[in-house]
Amino acid sequence: VTGAIAPAAEVRVFLAMGGNLGDVLGAFRRVLAALPARGVRVGRVSHAYRTRAMVLHLGDEPGPDYWNAVSEAHTALAPRALLALCQELEDDEGRERVRKWADRTLDLDILVYGDRVTEEPDLTLPHPGLAKRLFVLQPFADVDPDFPIPGLSQTVGQLLARFPDRNAGIEYVMRGWL
Ligand code: ATP
Ligand code: CA
Ligand code: CA
Repeated sequence: VTGAIAPAAEVRVFLAMGGNLGDVLGAFRRVLAALPARGVRVGRVSHAYRTRAMVLHLGDEPGPDYWNAVSEAHTALAPRALLALCQELEDDEGRERVRKWADRTLDLDILVYGDRVTEEPDLTLPHPGLAKRLFVLQPFADVDPDFPIPGLSQTVGQLLARFPDRNAGIEYVMRGWL
């Protein structure tokens, strides 16, 4: 085929959304609405989970509760282009980068990028917190419980079933928030 450039194949990805400042569900909705024009086709989206903020230092007051959700998507963007887009969308929501795990309007992480397994300073895939965080596993299981996590020999549902405390930090579920 002369002169034709084959379009890059789409990869299935999973994105985690989180936030605990301002109109967080509004931020999630704006992100999901903005993605298609930026080369990311949104697929299934989880329920939204209300989650208690972690206390980082003993004696500190916990920050406001979080909202967390997970979305499936398909994209031809390369991993770092997708990461840059996530950071741009965080900035659009007024995310301030104060210190690690500070309260935030929007956090947008790449949980999984196809079958990619990589560990670099700016990008670890799958996301290193995935298996340890109920507020990620629970919404991920809404989207695809049978998904085998690349690099781990377990599905999302299996990780969830083996999670030590099935209620850790999750206060309630909001269905139909989109
Ligand atoms: P955590 O990574 O523990 O969820 P966080 O989301 O609060 O913490 P941020 O301050 O938002 O951390 O991001 C810190 C850095 O993490 C980013 O600059 C980015 O380069 C890096 N990073 C590594 N892997 C990923 C990934 N899979 N998705 C998003 N960011 C990632
Ligand atoms: Ca995060
Ligand atoms: Ca992040």
